[in-house]
Amino acid sequence: MIAIKKKLYFIFIFIFVLSIVGCSRTTSTTIKKTNPVKPTVVATPVIKAKPIESSTIPGFDNTTDIKPYGKSIPVLQYHSISYDKGNPICIPIKKFEEQMKYLKDNGYYTITLTNLYEYLMNNTPIPKKSVVITFDDGYDNNYTAMFPVLKKYKFKATIFVISSLIDVHSNMLTSKQLIEMDKYGVDIESHTAHHDNLKLISKDNQLKTLIQSKKHLEKTLNKKINFFAYPYGGFNKNAIEALKEAGYKMAFTTKNGWSSKKNGIFSLHRVWISASDSTKVFGRKVSKPKKNIVDSFSF
Ligand SMILES: [Zn+2]
Repeated sequence: MIAIKKKLYFIFIFIFVLSIVGCSRTTSTTIKKTNPVKPTVVATPVIKAKPIESSTIPGFDNTTDIKPYGKSIPVLQYHSISYDKGNPICIPIKKFEEQMKYLKDNGYYTITLTNLYEYLMNNTPIPKKSVVITFDDGYDNNYTAMFPVLKKYKFKATIFVISSLIDVHSNMLTSKQLIEMDKYGVDIESHTAHHDNLKLISKDNQLKTLIQSKKHLEKTLNKKINFFAYPYGGFNKNAIEALKEAGYKMAFTTKNGWSSKKNGIFSLHRVWISASDSTKVFGRKVSKPKKNIVDSFSF
């Protein structure tokens, strides 16, 4: 009982700290841009792989190493790239760089959310060793620390930002940084307007925060916002309906595991990366879908 209370206490503290400032100390981030999502067609089982433009996934040769259809994909969930002793969501820059080097050295392709969506919904081919990199909240260190590393490895990634904090909170990304990263190819997507837990609010309020955030980002970046990550992993049936009504196409929870269509396109799982992960553990998380259920965090 005491142990449970203690655990709840720590979870509360983390949520509180994160909801205010995260753990940004150093700063840096960059990601690449996704292509516009094609109109959704009802997925029909396709036996043969379609050829894919090599420009869609840089370096991907569509004649080899194609992931079989219907498989799950590791979508990594990061938050802050910074050091904060004992805080599992703050990944020191050195560790992050080691993880990116691991992906490069081991032949992984960092695909975009559009690539993922097209694979899950339309069976568009992706490489067997595909991985998606995502960041929640929009800390300024995603620009100052993470972006240079992404550029170094020519990797792609997505940042789910809290739109009301842009240009407002000193630890969060500015619109100038978002525009620069978007131009480079970092995909900026929505994490609500105020870091709202959709599970705890009415459908009207769910719609409000989803639309407000979408419009804000679309105006800032002059592109369509299609994807979403639930703050605290909180969602329910109404939230999924609200996302559809607001025009989103795909959403991620904080449930730990690889993304699979069988979990629902609006409730995809992700692989939580902890500051305590060794390179060996990281390697397991991106290579073995069933062996990464070690821990999960909901922010
Ligand atoms: Zn969050």
